[in-house]
Amino acid sequence: MLHFDKPVFGPIFSRRLGSSLGVNVLPSAGKLCNFDCIYCECGWNRDGRSSGIFPRTEDVRSALEAKLTECAAEGTRIDSITFSGNGEPTLNPDFPALVDAAVEARDRFFPSAKISVLSNATTVGRKEIFEALRKVDNPIMKIDAPTEEGVRILNRPCGNYSLEETLCALERFEGDFILQTMFLKCPEYDSSEEHGLGAWLDIVRRLRPRETMVYTIDRETPQKNLQKFSAEEMRMFTDVLVKEGFMVQVRG
Ligand code: SF4
Repeated sequence: MLHFDKPVFGPIFSRRLGSSLGVNVLPSAGKLCNFDCIYCECGWNRDGRSSGIFPRTEDVRSALEAKLTECAAEGTRIDSITFSGNGEPTLNPDFPALVDAAVEARDRFFPSAKISVLSNATTVGRKEIFEALRKVDNPIMKIDAPTEEGVRILNRPCGNYSLEETLCALERFEGDFILQTMFLKCPEYDSSEEHGLGAWLDIVRRLRPRETMVYTIDRETPQKNLQKFSAEEMRMFTDVLVKEGFMVQVRG
């Protein structure tokens, strides 16, 4: 499974974000997340026990500046500085300071690059996290299932989780965020099932994200019986949103 051992990795080409320089603000070995998604590229939480030692803001800042200096000197394009990596980035207790460090480095070296954060949205109800996410260009927030039961099956939250509270917290973006949803099928869950799909479409209508990214599995997954959807199928599922004027990006 995929684990990053440095605070900065890449750039890697992403169809969603272009040339994306990854920032891992989680412990370097293993995985740290308050979800344990059945499709997680980092594997199950139990198999990826991390050291629990978060990288320090100053270390992330200097690694980022060193890499951006190198990219600028080599003429390497950077479209996005992307918080992702070994789990949920907002769990780093210094997440707001880390965002500030990334914004400063971006402004200095690649002012036209975007700052992106891939998050499972579980912490967005916390004032300091929400305020930090408001400073980034692309807060990409995950809602995979439209019901508490669906979340339990797909995302397997650790500890308390309320989908409704998360949706209320996301409403505070007033649409200025990107919604990300994984579409998959397994014996316990099917993202295309009519009732659930309808409920998910209603969540998009309620949150009115400026963009919705729909994707499916494309790497090894911890649960083995998962089936992907084709891009064509996902376009069909989301076509009604496009007709209603929503921007939907499908990655098959
Ligand atoms: S939220 Fe992301 S990092 Fe966490 S378990 Fe799910 S896919 Fe993995």
